[in-house]
Amino acid sequence: MASIEFKKVTKSFGDSTVIEDLDLMIEDGKFTVLVGPSGCGKTTLLRMIAGLDPQTSGAVLIDGKDVSHTAPGQRGVALVFQNYAIYPTMSVRENIEFGLKNNKVSKEERKELVESISATVGLSDYLDRKPSTLSGGQRQRVALARAMVKKPAVFLMDEPLSNLDAKLRVHMRIELIELHKKLGSTFVYVTHDQVEAMSMADTIVLMNKGEIQQEASPDTIYREPNNLFTAQFVGVPPMNTAPLGKDGASFGFRPESAALTRSATDAWFQYKGVIMTREMLGSETIYHVKGDRYTFMIKCYEDLFAVDEPVYVGVPADKLFFFGADEKRIAKN
Ligand code: ATP
Repeated sequence: MASIEFKKVTKSFGDSTVIEDLDLMIEDGKFTVLVGPSGCGKTTLLRMIAGLDPQTSGAVLIDGKDVSHTAPGQRGVALVFQNYAIYPTMSVRENIEFGLKNNKVSKEERKELVESISATVGLSDYLDRKPSTLSGGQRQRVALARAMVKKPAVFLMDEPLSNLDAKLRVHMRIELIELHKKLGSTFVYVTHDQVEAMSMADTIVLMNKGEIQQEASPDTIYREPNNLFTAQFVGVPPMNTAPLGKDGASFGFRPESAALTRSATDAWFQYKGVIMTREMLGSETIYHVKGDRYTFMIKCYEDLFAVDEPVYVGVPADKLFFFGADEKRIAKN
């Protein structure tokens, strides 16, 4: 078990500083997801934890100990990458065992460990197969098993599911959540996919341009975004936002928080428009409603309107978000 702490960490590549004075506490045993757009510094944080690319200044602590000068192999962390390196000529068993070869573990112990870990990740029936005969998800599990065999206190994962097809990705998300529950180790998972972050994390660390925007549970990130960036980053489709007056302030509401009606209602915010497009997604329909000033996306669970139909968008007061010119959320009264 291990917590991870960044203390005033700065990371520069040559004369470009990508992270500056960052403080972050990643709790022991939690599933923490670092999420944010491409280039925001997620992988850089992960590599600093692993010791692959040490920080320029500040300290990284694992389990309360400063590991700034500790070699990667001595940090008790295991890395699982997007392009997981598994050896094509070795069987699944040999691939998993490979991680142990240097650790002077007896043959019997090795066999036992490989078997119990294979069972944990659902590979018991595949131990004698070659990776080329496995599916993408099974290969990903071999990579996980190989990391697990070293019994690391910390698992670091960098977009491990991004090479899998959409269906398998959803399946592996559930498997990772279950694996985390079983192992109880600290998981730090990097992704740019907010759905992945929302569905797996105990804690989301949302980053943009090297800075932490918000660090909270998925529920809090969704319900109580503390700035415009966070509000727009999570949710499918994202929050509708629009300028409010001329002073740089803005307001927003989620596509599922609005009602569409054919005549005016007494909703706190009303906006008259016309349905421009209709995306039928099965259980829900997304309407794009355009008026004089704004176009909003509205998510409905019934498909009641046609393209070109005039409608009213109605939003209750408690579903509206307001942001100042500094893009910070103006707290609800
Ligand atoms: P992505 O989702 O695209 O992988 P990321 O959030 O993981 O992005 P990083 O890989 O951490 O982003 O990169 C953060 C910033 O640091 C980027 O601007 C990137 O160009 C820069 N950077 C990363 N590694 C290096 C390097 N070795 N040399 C120079 N700049 C680098």
